[in-house]
Amino acid sequence: MTKLLVATHNKGKLHNFADMLQDLEIEWLSLDDVGVTQDVAETGRTFRENSVLKARAYAAETGLLTLADDSGLEVDALNGAPGVYTARYGGAGLTAVQRYQKLLDDIKHVPEAQRTARFRCVIVLAAPDGTLLGESEGVCKGRIAQVPAGDNGFGYDPVFYLPEFDQTMSQLTAAQKHQISHRGRAMQAIAPRLRAVLQGTTG
Ligand code: IMP
Repeated sequence: MTKLLVATHNKGKLHNFADMLQDLEIEWLSLDDVGVTQDVAETGRTFRENSVLKARAYAAETGLLTLADDSGLEVDALNGAPGVYTARYGGAGLTAVQRYQKLLDDIKHVPEAQRTARFRCVIVLAAPDGTLLGESEGVCKGRIAQVPAGDNGFGYDPVFYLPEFDQTMSQLTAAQKHQISHRGRAMQAIAPRLRAVLQGTTG
């Protein structure tokens, strides 16, 4: 069985990948499963740079084929910010609620039609020798709501409004979100590549 490291501490991400490639003989491993405790610094200027940094570093450290993703929110009224700084928006030590409240405050005078935004996710697959074996991108378009709504999800989900659902990301079920989210789309897009690489590996 081929071992595949997913550069995350989040079991949910691991299960989402495993669900898509159920037919392949893969042992899915998280950073915790392989005892990696030191996180790679996300010093890149783009989502892709951060994904490449993480995939290569963890693959080199563990000797395993490694998938890494990086994602964030791009708000048009903020010229694409916070982007790669999404997790740190507003500074250190804030809760997720404080971060999205800062976002609502920063664009409080921006009218509805100009509150367009998108979540973006880039996934990279790297070999232990640093070779990049595949990459994909997923985008989910929406608008920043005026007020938060919903209880599901995490991060900026309560303020990310999806016109086609007339709901925020936080009001979707986990399965609905996975179908249309940036991460779900990037995962679906890399699946054929992953399949080809793994079938090559396993013969
Ligand atoms: P990461 O690269 O997946 O860790 O995402 C970086 C940051 O972007 C997270 O800390 C969240 O604040 C935000 N983010 C990424 N994906 C989502 C999502 O699906 N919903 C809400 N926030 C997200």
